[in-house]
Amino acid sequence: MAKMLRIVNGRVYDPANGLDGTVRDVCILDGRIVADVPREARTVDARGMVVMPGGVDIHCHIAGSKVNLARKLQPEDHRRDPHLRTRFTRSGTGGTVPSTFATGYRYAALGYTTAMEAAVSPLGARHALEELHDTPVIDKGFFILMGNNVLLFQLLQEGRHEEFRQALAWWLNAAKAYAPKLVSPGADEMWKGGRNANITRLDEKIGPFDLTPRKVIDAFIGSANDLGLPHPVHIHCNNLGHTGNYETTLETMRIAGDRRAHITHIQFHSYGAVAAKSGDNPTSRATDISEYINTHPNISADVGAIMFGRSTSMTADAPLAYMLRKFGGRKWVSADTELESGCGIIPFTYQDRSYTNALQWAIGLELFLRSSDPWRMVFSTDHPNGGSFMSYPKLIRLLMDSEFRKQEMAKVNQAALDNSGLRECQDRELSLYEIAIITRAGPARLLGLTAKGHLGVGADADVTIYEENADKEQMFAAPRYVIKDGELIIEDLEFRTDHAGRVLHVAPEYDAGIEQTLRPFFEDYYTVQFNNYAVDPSYLHSHQVIPTAPQPTGTFSRAGA
Ligand SMILES: [Zn+2]
Repeated sequence: MAKMLRIVNGRVYDPANGLDGTVRDVCILDGRIVADVPREARTVDARGMVVMPGGVDIHCHIAGSKVNLARKLQPEDHRRDPHLRTRFTRSGTGGTVPSTFATGYRYAALGYTTAMEAAVSPLGARHALEELHDTPVIDKGFFILMGNNVLLFQLLQEGRHEEFRQALAWWLNAAKAYAPKLVSPGADEMWKGGRNANITRLDEKIGPFDLTPRKVIDAFIGSANDLGLPHPVHIHCNNLGHTGNYETTLETMRIAGDRRAHITHIQFHSYGAVAAKSGDNPTSRATDISEYINTHPNISADVGAIMFGRSTSMTADAPLAYMLRKFGGRKWVSADTELESGCGIIPFTYQDRSYTNALQWAIGLELFLRSSDPWRMVFSTDHPNGGSFMSYPKLIRLLMDSEFRKQEMAKVNQAALDNSGLRECQDRELSLYEIAIITRAGPARLLGLTAKGHLGVGADADVTIYEENADKEQMFAAPRYVIKDGELIIEDLEFRTDHAGRVLHVAPEYDAGIEQTLRPFFEDYYTVQFNNYAVDPSYLHSHQVIPTAPQPTGTFSRAGA
């Protein structure tokens, strides 16, 4: 029998379709939004409630070998925060790096129905896919780390650009990935080759290669656009966390010209140099970063806000982890992924009295409040780097409620606030419509997920219904209903069934002849044979290929259009 549902009386926030709190019905048939359903369809009365598309997290760390290592590193979190089973759902552990089951259920319990794991080495793709298969309810995909790939570097330095593009397409297929990710291009190779070495300038030579980060970034931006990937290259800029790094960030965005590029967790890349008024400390350059993005419609970013309290820094930026280890103060991990990437993990606590942490917190808020286009400056805490996804409701309240924000501002390091620009924009309050953009419609559009982030006919029936509440943290912490693929997963605040989401990935076309270029390299240098490297489709289980299509330069495809 067809599964039908009609949501009535709710105020619908669906920015992709221009609905700003309009009271209207939302109809669902067999997992899709439809124009109407027969009268016998089940009805959900959403009077006094807000209806939004399910949340879409564009950048988080929830699956794969580094995430699992971070879980193993913190057994105290498992003891502190058990996730109990219910009649319909399975048990797990929480903390800043929840187990697979807990990750899926806790995202769903916040009204999120899609999340993108942002850093998987291609060698780790099988592990990531196995964990994503075990992550219930939500749809998910992952970005593969390509910015320190030795074979791609060799092709680039020899000017073999067509083969580079073919190899990129082959790699996305081989790993079943969603997008290419760059993490401090060139830095890991330098780190592996020299004691505490790092790359600090975009025109610096990358170790033994006749190549610079600028050339690498330019090649990836070009190839990702040429291949028509639904999401452009996802860039973690060089110099993350370093004083004065905003100039590197601006320069990276300029490399794109008028081509699409996504800069991730840009808060961590918006720090000014030490100013006379700040002692030895960095200052906020959120104004410069916002100004650039506001005026360049080809560029998008997610904020990567930090929230005070416990977090886990986990990154492919191995030199950064080395720098941070002294601030973590306890255990840490540094790891190498042969020929492909590096990795560092550090349990970390952000403190409101710390100058640096308070400045980071202020910059995150500033970036949201200075953005003139919420479609291109979207929501993230780089979970669990800037804070757990469980802190999203509080971050939403900080953006929507200026009185609450001022109370919180009074608690933090005041010298840091003085050197940020947060007081200048402290009166702006984001509306529910804008929140629906930065947490749903915007990320879906930037990812090129045309069936997500909106409630137009044909969209996936991923819907969240919140009870209206003046306290926005409470409101967004506990949706009354969560619907995934047309199924009522959460009803009256409780899970009513379990659900397995899909893996979303791309499959760009490539010339099979590229394998003749790749094979000898694998046989010479990899521990895995070429024939065993590509992920077998049996790892995919429930999945969906998101089509590639070259897009007009400088624009993002419009969800629902
Ligand atoms: Zn990240």
